[in-house]
Amino acid sequence: MDGARTLRVSLRAAAGQLVGRCWCGRTHAGDDPVEMWDWLDEHEHEEPACRSAAR
Ligand SMILES: [Zn+2]
Repeated sequence: MDGARTLRVSLRAAAGQLVGRCWCGRTHAGDDPVEMWDWLDEHEHEEPACRSAAR
């Protein structure tokens, strides 16, 4: 088990685009849900440089 991963894809109706947001904070826009999930799985996750609060 590699722990819980949270992937979110939301639909932006106004733009007619899917906007996916990974747990690492990166976002990706596109109009193909399959491509979106591929991106979520394959992109290089952005690791926080340090553990200080991000917000
Ligand atoms: Zn990621």
